[in-house]
Amino acid sequence: MGFRPFVYRVAHEYEVTGWVNNSSRGVFIHAEGAESRLHAFYHRLLVEPPSLARIEKAEWQAVPLEDYSNFTIVESERDEHSDVLISPDVATCQDCLSEIRDFSNRHYHYPFTNCTNCGPRYSIIKDVPYDRGQTTMAPFQMCRDCREEYEDPLDRRFHAQPVACEVCGPIATLIDRQGRILPGLGIDQLAQGSILAVKGIGGFHLVCDAYNREAVQSLRGRKERGAKPFAVMARNLEKLVQEVVVTDEEERLLTGTTAPIVVLKRKVGQLSSLPEDLAPGLNTLGMMLPYTPLHHLLFEGPFDFLVMTSANLNGRPLIYKNEEALAELRGIADFFLVHNRDIYHPCDDSVVQMIGGQTVFHRRARGYVPLPLKASVKVRQPILGAGGELKNAFCLAEGKKAFVSQYIGDMGGYENFMRFQQELDSFQRVVQITPQVIAHDAHPDYQTTRFAHESSWPRIPIQHHHAHLISVLGEQGETEPVLGIICDGTGWGEDGKIWGFEFLWGNAQGYQRKGHLEYLPLPGGDAGAKHPLRIAYAYLKFLMTPNEWEETTSLWKGLSPTERKVLDQQLEKNLHVFQTSSAGRLFDAVSALLGICTHVTYEGQAAIELEAFASQWLDETYEGDMLRTLDWNSVYPVDWSEKDKELILNVRPLFKGLTGDLLQHKDKGRIAFQFHQTIAWAIVETAGRLRVGQGPLVINGGVFQNKLLTEMLLHLCSDRSIEVWRARDLPPGDGGLAYGQILIANEVINNVSSHTRKSCLD
Ligand code: ZN
Ligand code: ZN
Ligand code: FE
Repeated sequence: MGFRPFVYRVAHEYEVTGWVNNSSRGVFIHAEGAESRLHAFYHRLLVEPPSLARIEKAEWQAVPLEDYSNFTIVESERDEHSDVLISPDVATCQDCLSEIRDFSNRHYHYPFTNCTNCGPRYSIIKDVPYDRGQTTMAPFQMCRDCREEYEDPLDRRFHAQPVACEVCGPIATLIDRQGRILPGLGIDQLAQGSILAVKGIGGFHLVCDAYNREAVQSLRGRKERGAKPFAVMARNLEKLVQEVVVTDEEERLLTGTTAPIVVLKRKVGQLSSLPEDLAPGLNTLGMMLPYTPLHHLLFEGPFDFLVMTSANLNGRPLIYKNEEALAELRGIADFFLVHNRDIYHPCDDSVVQMIGGQTVFHRRARGYVPLPLKASVKVRQPILGAGGELKNAFCLAEGKKAFVSQYIGDMGGYENFMRFQQELDSFQRVVQITPQVIAHDAHPDYQTTRFAHESSWPRIPIQHHHAHLISVLGEQGETEPVLGIICDGTGWGEDGKIWGFEFLWGNAQGYQRKGHLEYLPLPGGDAGAKHPLRIAYAYLKFLMTPNEWEETTSLWKGLSPTERKVLDQQLEKNLHVFQTSSAGRLFDAVSALLGICTHVTYEGQAAIELEAFASQWLDETYEGDMLRTLDWNSVYPVDWSEKDKELILNVRPLFKGLTGDLLQHKDKGRIAFQFHQTIAWAIVETAGRLRVGQGPLVINGGVFQNKLLTEMLLHLCSDRSIEVWRARDLPPGDGGLAYGQILIANEVINNVSSHTRKSCLD
């Protein structure tokens, strides 16, 4: 990231001669000069690197004098072993932004302006070392002006591989549905309420004016998106804060070089004028700021907010090729704003949220991939962690580095699985790791499991929640066993049941299931998650006495008589009813019981809307001051039992209390809030009963993307002086699974090899 020009400038400053290059093993510097100056030079390089540079390791050695008379930057050399990190894509910098707004500048209004400090990187790279020839910029011959800047070590564009201008670089083209080319960038069309498919850095977005309710509704309808929230891009920070509440940390995230979508709390009532339809049933909005020159240019139009949602068809991967967009989005977009710089690695926008004073990933992709995690242990053999079924991301690791791919999607869809294979292939070249072993989820029906079976690599199946636990342990750089509470929607349990609210004690070498939520009957298995009221029905029928059950009749108005009859038969004959300890389904059931969400159109919807409902109540009643409401004596009761040396958390008392409140028509917001609080409290209480020593608690799993629940739990833990470890650089959900799979598989390999060594010695 502008490292060589920086070295060049510092060398001149210290009157050091020699050269600097950029090889696939890193930056090499040959420096000659007086000893004191050489030391000062070396020191400066380490303490003041350019803003985007990240020095992983630096070392020096004495070499024979070669008597250089000046200092130069020499061409990249290619070799076998690469240790150089490829940069993620970077949001447009202030300098470039000023240029595209400066009428006298040659980059004025040029939508692909970039420099060493900004622009596309990962999304355009085919192979290492990172040189123009290895990127999708290769077909563009630099013009004289661009080449001068590119070759001038003192220029901001020195060796910026994607440099381009209007004369020599990519161009944007507006096309209508009939394939006719139109002038402009589509600003007028957007202003008139049209929907545009806009090609960005990592793929296409579907774009419309966010204030235009009709356009928003028709986009939702055409995309068959159900109630899933749309991401919104704001003209600038000043406009953005008119609609949502932004803390200093959130501002730093929004305006930083990674420019993710940040989930922010909407202002209430009259204060917010954006349509509800952007995020039905939620009190938050995913917001981002323009991060490419093209975005900035679109905002020259009369809009302050644009819907910017990933362009994909239901259950299919992100669209990133012009032809695909024109063919597949024909029924959705009115116009297409395409360009001729190819995308090599399709990459969605990252989605983050501040939870308990820390950034939590909902989706990790653009801006963060392909930076590595530092593995806490040495991965001896290159391993592929295939990830999970939903929200898949895979991981490649070798030595002390682990690279997690961008979010790929749900593996159930055939096209998504094709995308997984495509990216797995190209990611190997970017991170220079060729796997020799595959670690995959133990679930027999996951697409990644089938893939593992069909591959030629030795495979190591990993229990889902164990991987969730070890992912956090690995991020912490720890190897000693800890107690982890894993709350998620679904994962294959060793007893063939659906796990998801698990108290596991262990490390990468193994784990013990110390406790879990009691098993409850899930009609229809994982597919049943789409009908949360049926889940609530099954749970209550199972948990309540016949007399108590009689009293709940009024709660099932949302189920037709036929539906009830089928459910009754299913439960009675135990037909297609699965046993589950899932935490996600517990939230789903309560959401449906309260009448908040009974029909799920996107994954996690019932739980997400339940959280929104509880948070809204908190805002309206206590102005969001959670501490004032946190009376730990007013939670719903739970109790515990023991079975096969496992502690079972029983929720019969909870549901009794909750349905009692509901039947007495108590405030549903308060009930939703109290339910969250009960779960937070029950987690910490159960952990307390299980805890060995005073170690930290790990919490992980998709349920901890719930801000309210997580912050309640953190409060309680801090009251009780319990340290909590959470996912930091990876999503708590299944997007973080692959890293845990790798660390566990690595231990399996170590064990096997130490056994073989021992048996050889015997
Ligand atoms: Zn720039
Ligand atoms: Zn040019
Ligand atoms: Fe999971």
